Amino acid sequence: MIFNKTVKNILQSPISFLLFLLLIITSFLFFFNDFHQEDASILQVHYIDVGQGDSILIQTPQNRNILIDGGEKNQGSFLKGYLEKQGVKHLHMVIGTHPHADHIGGLGFILENFSTDLIILPPIAHTTKTFEDLLSTIERENIPLRSIPSSEPYLFENNLILEFLGPHRDFQDHLNNWSVVLKLTYLNHRFLFTGDIEYAAENALIQDFSPETLSSHVLKVPHHGSSTSSSLSFLEAVAPRISVISSGKENPYGHPHKETVERLLNFSPHLYRTDLQGTILIESDGVELWSPTSPISHDTSGY
Ligand SMILES: [Zn+2]
Repeated sequence: MIFNKTVKNILQSPISFLLFLLLIITSFLFFFNDFHQEDASILQVHYIDVGQGDSILIQTPQNRNILIDGGEKNQGSFLKGYLEKQGVKHLHMVIGTHPHADHIGGLGFILENFSTDLIILPPIAHTTKTFEDLLSTIERENIPLRSIPSSEPYLFENNLILEFLGPHRDFQDHLNNWSVVLKLTYLNHRFLFTGDIEYAAENALIQDFSPETLSSHVLKVPHHGSSTSSSLSFLEAVAPRISVISSGKENPYGHPHKETVERLLNFSPHLYRTDLQGTILIESDGVELWSPTSPISHDTSGY
């Protein structure tokens, strides 16, 4: 009764009414904010446009950051800005897929600018200055360095599993095939990151793992869409719904190669290309998968 009377008094005075309205709006905003925080259970995978090269930022539902590759050295400063724009202050894991400059060139600058828990590199050395500079930075910054872990599923955080599927063979001096291959599973969705692997490493994956293990909703297309990768049998095993090609506009290698794009379009109903569309963001809440960017080609069956 007292409450009803108070409410009635408030509603009768214009100023009190406005204050009352403000209180309602504020409460709503608090509620919405709480609701929004629950929305933090979204996984974001940014295929960053670093020209000809690779750089992928994974922001996990529990706000951890994983960076796979850092593009060429001249992309370091742009990449730093991009990470800052995404609110990245700390990197929980950095992966240099293999020692080529278009993958590790920009990583040194990133490691100097962001505290990093762990860096993972494949067990292969390279004699270039770029690779040696990266090793010196890792040592100078005192960042724990690990060769790739076993392929056993590793619970990175609640509901998010990492599997290091490669390299687990000796590919001699074929550096591309030594690329770290990482599978990420978040609830219903699986993402496959392949660096620059070519046919030999793809075949090794097919021999070492079942199609159930390899099958993924989202494939980072190996080696910038080169025709020496993405074999029919590999695409059959992975059967991606979404494929993302990371390559530079008018690059001297002609990446992605026409035949690879055609092969991908036959297998993967949704194709994205950083050379044509810039940075591609793919998001998942574990049930739905979406992107703010429309794919180059798509069917109507959804993801
Ligand atoms: Zn490359």
